[in-house]
Amino acid sequence: MTVTATDPVALTQALIRCESVTPAEGGALTLLESVLKPAGFTCHRMTFTEPGTPDVENLYARIGASAPHLCFAGHTDVVPPGDLAAWTVPPFAGEIRDGRLYGRGAVDMKGGVACFVAAALRHLVTGDEEGPSINGTMKVLDWLKSRGETLDVCIVGEPSNPDTLGDEIKIGRRGSLTAEIVVRGKQGHAAYPAKADNPIPKLARILDRLSSVEIDRGTPDFEPSNLQVTVLSVPNRAANVIPAEARATFNIRYNDTWRRPTIEAWVREQCAAAAATINAAYDLEFSGTGDARNSVAWKLRPIRRS
Ligand SMILES: [Zn+2]
Repeated sequence: MTVTATDPVALTQALIRCESVTPAEGGALTLLESVLKPAGFTCHRMTFTEPGTPDVENLYARIGASAPHLCFAGHTDVVPPGDLAAWTVPPFAGEIRDGRLYGRGAVDMKGGVACFVAAALRHLVTGDEEGPSINGTMKVLDWLKSRGETLDVCIVGEPSNPDTLGDEIKIGRRGSLTAEIVVRGKQGHAAYPAKADNPIPKLARILDRLSSVEIDRGTPDFEPSNLQVTVLSVPNRAANVIPAEARATFNIRYNDTWRRPTIEAWVREQCAAAAATINAAYDLEFSGTGDARNSVAWKLRPIRRS
């Protein structure tokens, strides 16, 4: 593909046309490599793997060898487009309408990556931000360390300004904890509930507590932590059958009041307290990123301009 790398709009369009729904590379890194290499960048493509997580392709492109070493960090993966019929523009066409560029990833963050490339500086691009974030940035950083490469400055091009460009500078990231809860019941006929144990109302009660209890009140640097139920699933198609189990997934974005072990303990406590009153049997499984690997991975804060 021939793209003028110095034109961030054309490059953003070309990147949007790569269907890089996480964890798929979708041609996005290949495209970047094809514009960076001729410009003199040394490109390294690396695929990292971890049991239980999808393999992720990464690209590290470097130009020059002297200090300071400025790094641009970004990701080319995007979240799934969802219901295609609900889009007024095709999500992977990179269309411009009335002077605005539309498409999945235009903001988060193919636009940012295209601006990096257009700025023609040292470059670090990962394809694993919208997924579990195991085989991306963390491993690229390990790889750099093993090669004795040190970054002096790193610019992350995430779209984090709520209203206008520059209204907020984030210098850190909240932790992200994902949990799946499965409430176990006993299958039975809806006409004979005494012979069954319906897990749905029990799950609803637990989720109600998780969604309504205050996690914390925020800190000087961060908003209050928040919990969002994102998946609710009952594997049952029969209206007259009480199902055997009901499951839900929720995600917590937590501030610096917490560390991964303490927020997990909080979730366990809340689930146990809710379950105790209704005699619910359940399993809880945690995943997610944040400070999973290192319990003090971030200590930074957003700076708000008044
Ligand atoms: Zn992003």
